[in-house]
Amino acid sequence: MTVETAFQESYLFQANIEKTGPQIVGGRGVRVDVKFDGKVQNGMIDAVAGAAVGALGWADEDVYEIINEAARSSTYSYPALLSNESAEELAKFYIENSPKGVFAAALWCTSGSESNENALRIIRQYWVERGLPEKTKIISRENSYHGFSLGAQSISSNPRIDAFSPLLIDQKNICVKMPCAYTYRFKEANETEEEYAQRLLDILEDKILEHTPEKVGTVIVETLPGSALGTSPPPKGYLKGIRALCNKYDIIFHLDEVMCGTGRCNPNGGLNCWENFLDPCDAPDIQTVGKTLGSGYVTIAGVLVGPKIRNAFLEGSGSIIGGHTYSCHAFNCAVALGIQKKIKKEKLSANVFKMGNLMGQKLKDKLLSADNIAGDVRGIGGFWTVEFVQDRVTKKMFDTSLNVAGRFKQIAYKNGITLICMPSVKDNVGDIAVMAPSFIITEEDVDEIVEKMVKSTNELSRQLR
Ligand code: PLP
Repeated sequence: MTVETAFQESYLFQANIEKTGPQIVGGRGVRVDVKFDGKVQNGMIDAVAGAAVGALGWADEDVYEIINEAARSSTYSYPALLSNESAEELAKFYIENSPKGVFAAALWCTSGSESNENALRIIRQYWVERGLPEKTKIISRENSYHGFSLGAQSISSNPRIDAFSPLLIDQKNICVKMPCAYTYRFKEANETEEEYAQRLLDILEDKILEHTPEKVGTVIVETLPGSALGTSPPPKGYLKGIRALCNKYDIIFHLDEVMCGTGRCNPNGGLNCWENFLDPCDAPDIQTVGKTLGSGYVTIAGVLVGPKIRNAFLEGSGSIIGGHTYSCHAFNCAVALGIQKKIKKEKLSANVFKMGNLMGQKLKDKLLSADNIAGDVRGIGGFWTVEFVQDRVTKKMFDTSLNVAGRFKQIAYKNGITLICMPSVKDNVGDIAVMAPSFIITEEDVDEIVEKMVKSTNELSRQLR
């Protein structure tokens, strides 16, 4: 069995345990030990921290202490009845470590998908509180990913998800799609980045007018997408332009930072990715986060809201309708808070920003100057993508049947590096390999990742040419 088929067969629904795919059997720091076909490959470098999750790396002794303490001090509370100190403190931490006045309250939940479901619900209630219940439409992007629950899928769009259509939310009437921001492929050669951004903004404005501003409630985008497109940074002026359109037409601006946020891509050693592109006065009204918040040690994600939304609730009904049994879970919040405090104390967000940019630069230098299948290297801070092409000049993508991403994953795996690889979609997205290392990454780790990426790219290039 190849590694690729084993990955595909590794879900727990698989009845035949013999067919179980690669299994993690250990990890420390940025290394993981993986058992496959009865053999253990020790010390693979985890270039994607699980799935952009493990900010502190694996088996962190301080986190074990934090977990121990949290288990002793946390008592479960049902959030609709009782608050708890850890949830409050975690909210305070996020608010105080974001630019002043941007966020005013938080709701904690257990996954990124759930955070987006909660955000959808909060925004719906916001418009009801404001006496504008008709503002139900949500504009999101093609080639976007906001989670695998059905509401989150309805606002996402990429061919892997579209296979599940029709979804539960009536997409035609509620979920409106606009083009994604994919500078490498969709910016015209004769366009500047600013002109490309303006073209996308004009399309957004047309969509708002077509569906009427009275009915459009939200625009949601990933600040730096990861799952569908790979880390394609927004073209200059794009996010600021969305903010301006949201202001103009009284629409909620929602940024999804589940994968790129909470310290992974902040230029000032802080939390939010949008600080690369927006001043605090242009911040989102609502933001969803997850992944590095609990860093793989607890299942936690969240929704942060600014004063505009919080005040509408306070001046309206006074509370959020609905809730989950494990929302604001005291133990999860206490562990996440301990982890975030450690990241802050050890300046690890600043470290991953610097080391990640170094990794990106080295990948650009080594891959794009040589004859191989790497077409683009893009990203920011601790979040990078290599896109593979048949021809660097024409950017022609590989036929999906060649399974380039799957083969790359297999070769990389053999060379001792784990990353996320996603297949091409005809005339749309190329084959990509995504890296999102732990925040503790060192320059030596960067060099090892780059060396293994170059080696794997060269091997696959030889096979394909
Ligand atoms: N939003 C974004 C931008 C994501 O990248 C993801 C997952 O990759 C999600 C939401 C869903 O998060 P989860 O897998 O924790 O449900």
